[in-house]
Amino acid sequence: MIAFDQLGRPLRVLRLSLTARCNLSCPYCCPANDEPVDRLDLPDQLALIRACCSLGVRSLRLTGGEPLLSDQLESLLEHVAVGRSDPDDPLYQLEEVAITSNGVLLDAQRVKRLRQIGLDRITISLDAVQGDRVAAMAGIVGGASAGDRLLKRVLTGIDCAIKAGFDPSCGAIKINSVIQKGVNDDQLIPLARLARCLGIELRFIEYMDVGNRNCWNREHVMPAKKMIECLQREWPLEPLGRNLGGTAHRWRYLDRRAVVGVIASITEPFCGDCNRLRITVDGMAYTCLFGTLGTNLRPWLRPEVSSEDLIKAVSAMWRSRHDRYSEERGHTLSEQTRAEMAYLGG
Ligand code: SAM
Ligand code: SF4
Repeated sequence: MIAFDQLGRPLRVLRLSLTARCNLSCPYCCPANDEPVDRLDLPDQLALIRACCSLGVRSLRLTGGEPLLSDQLESLLEHVAVGRSDPDDPLYQLEEVAITSNGVLLDAQRVKRLRQIGLDRITISLDAVQGDRVAAMAGIVGGASAGDRLLKRVLTGIDCAIKAGFDPSCGAIKINSVIQKGVNDDQLIPLARLARCLGIELRFIEYMDVGNRNCWNREHVMPAKKMIECLQREWPLEPLGRNLGGTAHRWRYLDRRAVVGVIASITEPFCGDCNRLRITVDGMAYTCLFGTLGTNLRPWLRPEVSSEDLIKAVSAMWRSRHDRYSEERGHTLSEQTRAEMAYLGG
């Protein structure tokens, strides 16, 4: 049974946040670094994933804050892997399990383990390749030398992930880069060059007005169209389009070294086929990144409530959904307090 919302959009992707904490402090994201008190435990997380799978979810993305900080990550993956192999379990419906991480804690041993216990894909966020820019974008002190050390760590993590079997040619490892005009736009070509060398798909993300803490300003948005123009001056590209329900408009380098994408949620919003539900570390469900109010799912996670009633609650929430905030930006998007990115999970 697939749940459809008021605009006919199916529920397909669950982004589950494992923590609101982070070991970096990217100024465009501004994590609060205090964990909500009422964290979901492992049975709660599994119940929610199962309920979502029963309603159409086929892709699970674990996120945060920084998900590699979570001590529940491995046990969650182990349980999900068991369910995925049982045709009677709703988790059997999951076609992919992915994680979005800043890569700082991705050492050889851990990434090998993550692969063994069923993680299919990793997206690593990296916004620069020059030490001072890396430090500024990650919000760390110590200037260029600290940025260089961080970069080395993330690149080592990427290398370990490839060696552990996350194959870039099948999209099992990707890189995300937020580009802010006048801040790190000079890193666009160097980042693309790095990803081309590694054969990894890179997605450039427009700087978004998620939350209130980052003091977003449209002047710092580099439009995706401009990003593609810059890339095309360097390398010829052919368009691959955007997959239905996907976030990135993708292009292939004509020499077929790699694919590059742009996520244009400011200049070319894609609310029309948005199929993503976000659940925070304390069980709040958000149907939109720009949402002000979430739905508290904890009352349906109490032991006396059946899994059918949890499914009904998630289904009712999704079916009543009609948000398209990004498309309405500038018209009705209010200045009300919005949930922060590190809490929502991206
Ligand atoms: N800590 C992990 C990471 O950085 O990959 C996962 C959580 S992070 C909130 C998820 C994604 O959101 C990252 O790729 C990050 O770059 C992106 N992000 C955070 N704030 C953003 C903003 N204001 N605009 C665009 N992307 C943003
Ligand atoms: Fe942390 Fe990711 Fe936010 Fe950066 S974008 S502060 S790495 S949660």
